[in-house]
Amino acid sequence: MRIILLGSPGVGKGTIAKLLSRENGCVQISTGDILRTAVKDVTKLGIKAKEYMDNGNLVPDHLIMEIMEERLMQSDCRKGFILDGFPRTIPQAQQLSALLEKMNINLDYVINLEAPMEIILERLTTRRTCCNSSCQEIYNIKNNPPAEGGVCKICGHKVVQRDDETPEAISERIKIYNQKTAPLIGYYAKEGLLRNVESLHASETVSAIKAFNISEV
Ligand code: ADP
Ligand code: ZN
Repeated sequence: MRIILLGSPGVGKGTIAKLLSRENGCVQISTGDILRTAVKDVTKLGIKAKEYMDNGNLVPDHLIMEIMEERLMQSDCRKGFILDGFPRTIPQAQQLSALLEKMNINLDYVINLEAPMEIILERLTTRRTCCNSSCQEIYNIKNNPPAEGGVCKICGHKVVQRDDETPEAISERIKIYNQKTAPLIGYYAKEGLLRNVESLHASETVSAIKAFNISEV
């Protein structure tokens, strides 16, 4: 499958992308994960991105496009991909369309994940993430806690709250989502690619997405 997952911070894009990629072997490409790894490894990209991220702002489009052009060219993407957290602005979506056209690739669908705002806020404040940059498994202190001692069930690293999960940064991220990312819903609806899917229970959301007629690759 080749899909984009769209939706507000905390709606479950990362969780759903990980479940889908484990089931069907597609690669999950999360710009948030790529950026957090860069910040942790203090690369040139990480140094540039950190301040934007910690404040809940978007990282500039040209940096994101550089990352994604390189990432989508890698051979593992031939198995299909799930874009999680990208595109996030209209210019990113336009540049992605041009890039896919150049690569001769069609998207199957753009899945817009939906959940009520009170659930989203609750998820964002109770979310915890594995600090191992090659894992970044997502937990929730209420309904999906990490293992004994606050460590990741998969890799054993410490599970932590992200730097951008303070109440101030969360409300900034939601404001920016509404201004800059929500317009993509209309953009992809016009292209005929948009499908709305409720994101309340992960397994039901995954089944709903798989029920669409999606290409094998
Ligand atoms: P969430 O969707 O839960 O807010 P992500 O892990 O997708 O979090 O992203 C974390 C941060 O990384 C964002 O707040 C933003 O600063 C940056 N980021 C991730 N993807 C993009 C993107 N496509 N364009 C610009 N900034 C991005
Ligand atoms: Zn882990």
